[in-house]
Amino acid sequence: MEHALGPGAEFDAVRRLVRGWGDLAAGIGDDAAVLDVPPGERLVVSTDASVERVHFRREWLTPAQIGARATTSALSDLAAMGAAALGIVVALVVPAAWRPDLDAVAAGIGEAVAAAGTRIVGGDMSSGAELSITVTVFGTAARPVTRAGAQVGDDVFVTGLLGGPLLALRALQRGEEPTHRAHRLAFAAPVARLGEGRWLAARGATAMIDVSDGLAADLRHVAAASGVRLRVELGALPRVAGASPLDALASGEEYALAACVPPGAVDVTAFEQAFSTSLTRIGTVEAAVPGGTLVVVDDAGGRVDLPPGHDHFSS
Ligand SMILES: [Mg+2]
Repeated sequence: MEHALGPGAEFDAVRRLVRGWGDLAAGIGDDAAVLDVPPGERLVVSTDASVERVHFRREWLTPAQIGARATTSALSDLAAMGAAALGIVVALVVPAAWRPDLDAVAAGIGEAVAAAGTRIVGGDMSSGAELSITVTVFGTAARPVTRAGAQVGDDVFVTGLLGGPLLALRALQRGEEPTHRAHRLAFAAPVARLGEGRWLAARGATAMIDVSDGLAADLRHVAAASGVRLRVELGALPRVAGASPLDALASGEEYALAACVPPGAVDVTAFEQAFSTSLTRIGTVEAAVPGGTLVVVDDAGGRVDLPPGHDHFSS
């Protein structure tokens, strides 16, 4: 339950949001949140800012989707560590033009928190020029899985079907509605794969990452951190209808998980039954060689040229 908050328009807004969140909000109103870490586990923390016109456009998403997406992208980083969510804190910068939609943004944040089975334990609100949603997530894991543990000989797996967000984005940029509902959904309502991440971690995953910049770019991060090269088979890439294998490599904000796993460690059928989403072996971990951390090969074994990943500071 919330503590009593003082008077004023800002606190009125906070009270309204907390009331809207109901049981999803806990312990709000003190100077700081207090969280228990289970004995033998470690605290896993990540923060993620979503800024209007940088990470989202008001024309393409509802206010609730904007709130949910910002929260999911932060929670997805816990999934990538194999952590269970303990709680989140949310810092909102709200321009005057967004005030009428604030409750809807908050409802979206609540939806993502409910989907992850976690709660909102604190936050902050201020006015400003652009809507900005910064979500800090706290989780715990007995053995957090970093990007750095991939071993030569591991298999590389990815969850779900890739390409939907990129196809949706392309359609929206042309001023069209995405042709497939699944593409639109993957773009507007992504899911943080927390259960999947813990499942993979429990089966000995050596390295994991969530696909946010695009699979090719994110696999390069894993390879670089682990000091290995990843070999991916183009034809094996799981993709949504209408997406090419190169689309699957380039599509960002997927929030699928890519994992390196010792050979034979995962039962794909058991995973797919548990999560109603696919798990696909797409390649292997090789020893590092000069001149590249990722090689993608076609069916004939020829090297495929790769699309560049997303880089906020590239232009
Ligand atoms: Mg990440």
